[in-house]
Amino acid sequence: MQRPHVAILGAGPIGLDAALACADAGWPFTVYEAADTVAAHVRAWGHVRLFTPWDLNVSHRMRTHLPRTPTGDDCPTGAELATRLLDPVAALPALASRTRLRTRVVAIARTGLLKHEQIGTDTRAATPFTLLLETPDGEETAEADLALDCTGTYAVPNTLGTGGIPTRGERALAHRITRTLPPVQDTGRWAGTVLLVGAGKSAQTAARDLAALPGTRVEWIVRSPAPDWGAVRDDTLPGRQQLVETSQAFADGASDRVTVHTGTHVHALRPDGDRVRVTLATSQGPREFVCDHIVSLTGYVGDASLYRQLQVHECYATGAPMNLSAALLGSAGGDCLAQPAVGIDTLRTPEPHFFILGAKSYGRLNTFLLRTGYEQVDEVIGAYDPAVSA
Ligand SMILES: Cc1cc2nc3c(=O)[nH]c(=O)nc-3n(C[C@H](O)[C@H](O)[C@H](O)COP(=O)(O)OP(=O)(O)OC[C@H]3O[C@@H](n4cnc5c(N)ncnc54)[C@H](O)[C@@H]3O)c2cc1C
Repeated sequence: MQRPHVAILGAGPIGLDAALACADAGWPFTVYEAADTVAAHVRAWGHVRLFTPWDLNVSHRMRTHLPRTPTGDDCPTGAELATRLLDPVAALPALASRTRLRTRVVAIARTGLLKHEQIGTDTRAATPFTLLLETPDGEETAEADLALDCTGTYAVPNTLGTGGIPTRGERALAHRITRTLPPVQDTGRWAGTVLLVGAGKSAQTAARDLAALPGTRVEWIVRSPAPDWGAVRDDTLPGRQQLVETSQAFADGASDRVTVHTGTHVHALRPDGDRVRVTLATSQGPREFVCDHIVSLTGYVGDASLYRQLQVHECYATGAPMNLSAALLGSAGGDCLAQPAVGIDTLRTPEPHFFILGAKSYGRLNTFLLRTGYEQVDEVIGAYDPAVSA
């Protein structure tokens, strides 16, 4: 394909890196970003410090294009990543004029072809994509030859009931539930009892931060009877290791502000005056208490409805594109730093010229790293433009 017109969906770190790669290749491209700034998801968890240092968070393209990029072993917060790296990348002349903020991609399809038509044919591969866009001035359509879905996962949180479905009463109380990592300061906002659900790094971060507030008690619900907190032997990322140690200390009863209920799930939620009555299912039978706040951090998975009309083969277990999911599950280990590089064929879906990149490409798996996304960009752009090298 000669100089494809590329649609880049999402201006997070990976979408912006893909845009730089397109600019380097001399291709026409447009970045569509739903929010009114780039890196909107990163800003949403801007108060959180990354585990990975600057040296791992800056792509080789970003280093080439920006006169001064942060370097070294310091780990930035999400806000620092946005303002010190991603905003300057987005402001580069090659990108600024091609980035459309406040422009949500609602859906993408092959122009004039339904999902089941022209399966595996050259005709399908040569047919452009049509994108339906939602803008402040109404709906528009746009076309592209190559489409990169870099829309992330942070806007689509999982629910908190057993087996991943909403628990009884959860939908009615949805307005009371915080599903993103809350900025936690001693303002009284979190006074009282917090029901915290989840065991991943986000829940561990929330537990640590909430436990620092004198007026707050945390009832922490963890599905596993013996969580390992994602511990990595001889962890080279100190921030990650400290979090694991803190979580284990909470489980061992080290804080009178945090009670960890392992091997437990939330059976039901119901209003109790201004508060919420929580019923737990534990190995010793049901248990009840009343809470003032609910923080559900049970993971995220990308929005598949966007590409419903395309021939994307998703893994039935992870929701990630099938080939990539198989490669990731096959190499499953605890440490996201130890993931193998995957080739272009692993990133392909049955839909020609459509790729899911970045955090969304990992489906439900939470081991995605920025570094991996930058490598994905190398693979995909390199497959169309051999001059692109890592
Ligand atoms: C709390 C937290 C801490 C993390 N810490 C680390 C770390 O230490 N190191 C590391 O390497 N990784 C870390 N990650 C994982 C990962 O690197 C980040 O999630 C990263 O932001 C993923 O980048 P992305 O570009 O794939 O997606 P995102 O950053 O999620 O960006 C997606 C963009 O797409 C936009 N968008 C969404 N839907 C649409 C649509 N329909 N149309 C147009 N635009 C849309 C969003 O507004 C957003 O700007 C962390 C993740 C989280 C949540």
